[in-house]
Amino acid sequence: MQDRYQRQIDYLRISITDLCNLRCTYCMPETGIPQKEHADILSLEEILTIVKAVTPLGIRKIRLTGGEPLIRKGVVDLIHRISEVPGIEDISLTTNGILLGKMAGDLKKAGLSRVNISLDTLNADKYKEITRIGKIDDVLNGIHAAVQAGLNPVKINTVVIKGFNDQELGKLAALTQKLPIHVRFIELMPIGESSDKALETYIPAKEVRALLEQKVKLTKVQGIKGGGPAVYYEMPGALGTVGFIGALSEHFCNACNRLRLTADGKLRPCLQKSTEFDLKAVLRQGGQEEEIRQIFLQTIFNKPKEHNMELERWGEQARIMSQIGG
Ligand code: SAM
Ligand code: SF4
Repeated sequence: MQDRYQRQIDYLRISITDLCNLRCTYCMPETGIPQKEHADILSLEEILTIVKAVTPLGIRKIRLTGGEPLIRKGVVDLIHRISEVPGIEDISLTTNGILLGKMAGDLKKAGLSRVNISLDTLNADKYKEITRIGKIDDVLNGIHAAVQAGLNPVKINTVVIKGFNDQELGKLAALTQKLPIHVRFIELMPIGESSDKALETYIPAKEVRALLEQKVKLTKVQGIKGGGPAVYYEMPGALGTVGFIGALSEHFCNACNRLRLTADGKLRPCLQKSTEFDLKAVLRQGGQEEEIRQIFLQTIFNKPKEHNMELERWGEQARIMSQIGG
């Protein structure tokens, strides 16, 4: 389906839970977020019904995210069932990697193609500081397990935060010399826990690249498979690439191909805008595939030309990142 700005919408990001086993300081409050009633969250059957309904509209790629998607019971089976839906060509996952060590093999067998793993530092103490509770060895095991399982590509998402990890970019990029993985540096966005501080502690992608180029030589390369909005470079002798994502400073709204489904069943045309359409209500009032498609068409029609996060704080948004699905 094309939207009003001639963008081809073929990608649905589904948050399958807004809960998480970490508490990253820029994402979640220390106490976590209140757990919703089971009935307030889309069931796995409902998620599957939605996926089946929207492939005729041209949705081809599904990403599961959260919260932490790997803590949702039944996630492996859900991936398997999505992989059997005619028209679905690609299933990916965004995870903090804590449970990936145990699950990567089963996820791959179920039909997962690729994975993005979040890792903001290689220092164990700093990892604990930023996630409040995480153990870095769990993520490092998860990264190795993902590579070993044959998930491809394996991408690392690193949010760059002034004064926290800006001195560590060279070390993080050097992961691409040891492993066939892609380390992507992402601008901190003024969302949720970061809505007040992000505009002071974020570093524009261009500056991140300049900082890294003081330490290592980078050569621009073509995008990688499923590369998304990053611009990619290579270090000499590397097995993988280094990418930069300027969600604020060089936003890629003109190429935006995605919609987002929240764990509580709201369909959103844009990460930043609070517009959302209640798909869960439609489903639970007995809506069939045609009604689901109507909500998708309405959401696609309401996709804004661009966000303006670089000018606005998150303001009155009722949701934080983990409740939208990053
Ligand atoms: N729990 C999973 C994870 O951490 O990968 C999936 C959900 S998390 C919300 C998805 C991504 O959003 C992570 O890479 C995280 O670093 C990123 N994120 C969260 N808050 C952010 C913010 N304010 N600015 C930029 N990225 C953010
Ligand atoms: Fe959890 Fe991911 Fe948010 Fe960290 S960024 S608190 S891992 S949802």
